[in-house]
Amino acid sequence: MVDDDRSVRQVLKLALAGAGVRCQEFADVPALLAALGAGMPDLVILDISLDGSDAVEGIRGLTERGYRGMLQIMSGLDLKTIEDVSRIGERHGFRMLPVMRKPFRAEALNRLVRQYLSGAAARAAGPAPTSAPAEPQVDAVSLEELLRANRIEVWYQPKFDLRARTLAGAECLARGRHPKGVLLPGVFLPGADEHSMLKLTERVLTAALADWPEFAAAGSPMRLAVNVPVACLMRPEIPVLVREHRPKDANWPGLILEVTEDQVLRDIALAHEMATQLRIYGISLAIDDFGAGYSHLARLRDIPFVELKLDRHLVSNCAADSTNAALCQTAIDIAHRFGSLAVGEGIETAAELQSLHRMGCDLGQGFLLARPMPRDQMVAMLRGQPVQRA
Ligand code: C2E
Ligand code: CA
Ligand code: CA
Repeated sequence: MVDDDRSVRQVLKLALAGAGVRCQEFADVPALLAALGAGMPDLVILDISLDGSDAVEGIRGLTERGYRGMLQIMSGLDLKTIEDVSRIGERHGFRMLPVMRKPFRAEALNRLVRQYLSGAAARAAGPAPTSAPAEPQVDAVSLEELLRANRIEVWYQPKFDLRARTLAGAECLARGRHPKGVLLPGVFLPGADEHSMLKLTERVLTAALADWPEFAAAGSPMRLAVNVPVACLMRPEIPVLVREHRPKDANWPGLILEVTEDQVLRDIALAHEMATQLRIYGISLAIDDFGAGYSHLARLRDIPFVELKLDRHLVSNCAADSTNAALCQTAIDIAHRFGSLAVGEGIETAAELQSLHRMGCDLGQGFLLARPMPRDQMVAMLRGQPVQRA
């Protein structure tokens, strides 16, 4: 990948790493051409206007060096220029992928990754492109049925440190396995009874604790976060389960339980009591979906929490929408005043990522950076990813 803008390279690299694609980055064409001596890639991603060089020079250089793979042109320039450059690539005999306009959206990155993976399939390079499942059309399936049939899986969505640009952890997200495909929580969570929710929590917690050693072995002893309804948080089963299944490794950083703002505010005293007890077992709380509902700001001071997760509706469009930007900035400042980290959720565009970073947001999560993925893909990603020790 060649782009003179470091932040663009980082975003792309994270997105590709999230799909298990190994990627090398260069700031200009000479650096790319020099590296070709060490072996040919499957795909070259070229920005058009580079500091001191350009994509046309790149195309010529690639031809001279005997590169025969795929070429992806990307640029913020006008469409005509982009298409003209693309045509030059075609004339030189490269397989051109559909051009990408900057700033790119998550869909464009995902399409790129899918096309890359299908092109590279012959070389059996990366893991299967399971990161963006099409939502299967199925009739209602209950959580209870899925649990009984042992069809609940746990997927992981990485969370990144926006300043250091390293992996900072991952959120565990439940998925249902169905003959027609992978089911999202929106299909099986609404209407689930309390007993099933407790069983789900136990299932996800057990998986998170069991999968952690593999992530640690792949280079990242990171903290995993599990979504927990407040009703489950108050149950004695949780500390017992963590006590029995916690990894014995001294590097285990503990867990984060994510509780939604509205739920935790309903009974602050109890939440405080549970949070204190759970801390003994290495468990911290994060306030999820912050800003989604009506915030009882003043009352937050009574609950110890390590992260404030900005709801994705706040994050969405925060680059262009000054109201959302102001809300995000306020939420980030609140998190910091409470000595917590601010986490931007649902980051879909490079512009949103840059705005949050500018506002001092600590961590970020979203389709732009990485989609939720099954454990094995997460491990593959970790092996090729610079990580931050927990
Ligand atoms: P959540 O806790 O807010 O989780 C984040 C959701 O945002 C996930 O949806 C994730 O896939 C999605 N997301 C992440 N990045 C982006 C993005 O850039 N754009 C958009 N549009 N969405 C993004 P998912 O996996 O469908 O889960 C939905 C909700 O279901 C979760 O929201 C959480 O409240 C609940 N849930 C998921 N797994 C569990 C679980 O194991 N237990 C419980 N109790 N609830 C769960
Ligand atoms: Ca969550
Ligand atoms: Ca959330």
